[in-house]
Amino acid sequence: MTIDEKVRKTLAELSPTDPKKLFDEVRAAMEQERNALISRGAASESERDNLCKELRDRWLARKNGLLSFVDENWLKASPKELKPLVGRNFNALRQESTALEVAALMKEVPLRAQAPAGREISISDAFSASDSVSAAVSYINREVPGDLTLPGNRRPLGSLHPVTQMQREIEEIFLNLGFRIESGPEIESVYYNFDALNIPESHPSRDDWDTLYIDSKTVLRTHTSPVQIRAMEKYGAPLYIIIPGKCYRHDNPDASHSPMFHQIEGLAIASDITFADLKGTLDFFAKKLFGEKIRTRFQPSFFPFTEPSGEVSISCIFCGGEGCRVCKESGWIEVMGCGMVHPQVLRNGGIDPEKYTGWAFGLGIDRFAMLMYDINDIQLFFQSDVRFLKQF
Ligand SMILES: [Zn+2]
Repeated sequence: MTIDEKVRKTLAELSPTDPKKLFDEVRAAMEQERNALISRGAASESERDNLCKELRDRWLARKNGLLSFVDENWLKASPKELKPLVGRNFNALRQESTALEVAALMKEVPLRAQAPAGREISISDAFSASDSVSAAVSYINREVPGDLTLPGNRRPLGSLHPVTQMQREIEEIFLNLGFRIESGPEIESVYYNFDALNIPESHPSRDDWDTLYIDSKTVLRTHTSPVQIRAMEKYGAPLYIIIPGKCYRHDNPDASHSPMFHQIEGLAIASDITFADLKGTLDFFAKKLFGEKIRTRFQPSFFPFTEPSGEVSISCIFCGGEGCRVCKESGWIEVMGCGMVHPQVLRNGGIDPEKYTGWAFGLGIDRFAMLMYDINDIQLFFQSDVRFLKQF
């Protein structure tokens, strides 16, 4: 069976003794096709563009890409007991598949040097001719395509946006902890954005001043949290997901506000989740991202969708807690909100709060990138100024 046929079958139909071996096969096929393209090279830049795009789409296209079949038929359709194993393997595969992105391929696939049409004289022709000196001279002076000693034309390649880089760094940490990435619509119903999250009709965030309404029942989502409910409805418990994405609020753009911004949200639901798991996970996350010396501090707070709720601060990454301009001399920087998922929110997602508990957190990716790279104006991210973006 070819790999194309295999990914179109469900895990049950393939009934592998070891699902990991199936993933190894996919990985081997992916590498083989990539290596074949690299050793083949391309005759022109436009051919290279096309070949790279073709290979990328074959594997990564959202619709009918080979990995999308693996996702549908192996991961989503896998029996519950295999899900963690299959999920881990799929996440690893997806990480490796970034080598098939067009930008990554373009760096590897070489342009073949072309022989000048009809003008080539072989060296043996040249030196076996009766007038060997003039033949040798004509060989040396033969027409060649330009000066081969000049450096080639390298088209400048773009790079990932600093916010995307930050997002991927955060994702990486949680993927390694066994979370999976989930996404949802940016145009969202009032039900998912507010009602299902236990945000009462009277809550100020529902006001026109904070929320961008499409109509009375539809908004541009103000946070990534509606995806929590969608994921609970879709997968049930246990559930370990992170949700990165764009959010929108009726904010005037200034150095720390933007009407469009990026959030990442985490959600863990299982039968024995406690606040200790939340603290442990977020402390581990902060240390992974900012360094082992970072300390975390949890303070009580309030959100309608968690109970109890907390704000997480990290010890200042600039002064180590001594006090400086960035931490306003406090030694601490507030970085995210978190809490235990409110029982009513679990119920709204179709999960029995008597059987399951969960925690959630939410943070601003742009704010993290500003912290990480010491940037003092969020607008810089969205102005597309190459002089700024080039630094990352
Ligand atoms: Zn400081």
